[in-house]
Amino acid sequence: MHEFDLIAVIRDRCAATREDVRLGIGDDAALLAVPAGHILAVSTDTLVAGVHFQQGTSAFEVGWKSLAVNLSDLAAMGATPAWATLALTLPDADVRWVRQFADGFAALAGEFKLALVGGDTTQGPLSITVTVHGFVPDGAALLRSGARVGDAVYVTGTLGDAAAGLRCLERGQEVPAGSATASVALRESLIERLQRPTPRVAQGLALRGRASACIDISDGLAADLGHICSASGVGAEIDVESLPASSALFGFCDATTCHALQLSGGDDYELCFTAAEAQGPSLLGDLARSGCGATRIGRIVAGRGVSVRDASGNPVVVLQSGWEHFR
Ligand code: ADP
Ligand code: MG
Repeated sequence: MHEFDLIAVIRDRCAATREDVRLGIGDDAALLAVPAGHILAVSTDTLVAGVHFQQGTSAFEVGWKSLAVNLSDLAAMGATPAWATLALTLPDADVRWVRQFADGFAALAGEFKLALVGGDTTQGPLSITVTVHGFVPDGAALLRSGARVGDAVYVTGTLGDAAAGLRCLERGQEVPAGSATASVALRESLIERLQRPTPRVAQGLALRGRASACIDISDGLAADLGHICSASGVGAEIDVESLPASSALFGFCDATTCHALQLSGGDDYELCFTAAEAQGPSLLGDLARSGCGATRIGRIVAGRGVSVRDASGNPVVVLQSGWEHFR
């Protein structure tokens, strides 16, 4: 297999037809038409083997996740996904791996009619860089910087599952503390949240014009809400008992571990957003109807940084902040 055969394998699976793709894979550059009145939202994320996924993760899941983490960034901006490019570095020309990778990428791309329009294919340690492009009406993007004192803080879906899934993988067959009842099905549902995250694209669109600030949770709630706080020049208070958890997470660990995973575990790819109190009821109703509800978890206050409180109002220490490279 040569480079061009591998590119053909990818193109056959991922280069969807779209009106706005005037020229896709095959020339020196793609030619793309942005709809009038819209701004292009662009975001890049890299997955490195051994850092962002364990060696041995299936190619399908790597393909899915490499796109999912990028779509999550578009969701957090309130953008509609349209196109992607893919820079793929492979240790060898393993066509079986590339086929399954492209199938995983295409499975998620198809849900959003997203077209792969170009990329680069090189040899080296396994690494995948995806750049996504989406549209947002001029002036309507959801920024990190709009949170105001008095706004409520919300998250979509549930938190902590992906971090628990990672623990399941790392510990193999060993049963983690407090999880004697964790069944195989439960472990598998947690691992699936880690390896096949669902980008909250529809929810991001529903937040346009209503949320004051938004971010996707890739590094952990405390760290990512911290980014909203510093960009907005405000603080946030989180009520730890209000954090939404799946029944799988409750089956996996005790309350303290559960809260730690929800506050600091990465890879959830839920949206954390703020909105004026008055927006709350209609916004929550619309999100529930979109297929993924949201939960109110705290409030924006004057000051700096994120503080967490238990049911009696006592401070909860966030043991571990979010993931950082070069730390
Ligand atoms: P060039 O040498 O001009 O950079 P390449 O030979 O690298 O072009 O790529 C040929 C075509 O295939 C280009 O249109 C490029 O965008 C596309 N391409 C290369 N690798 C990938 C990939 N991994 N995924 C999608 N498209 C790719
Ligand atoms: Mg090239």
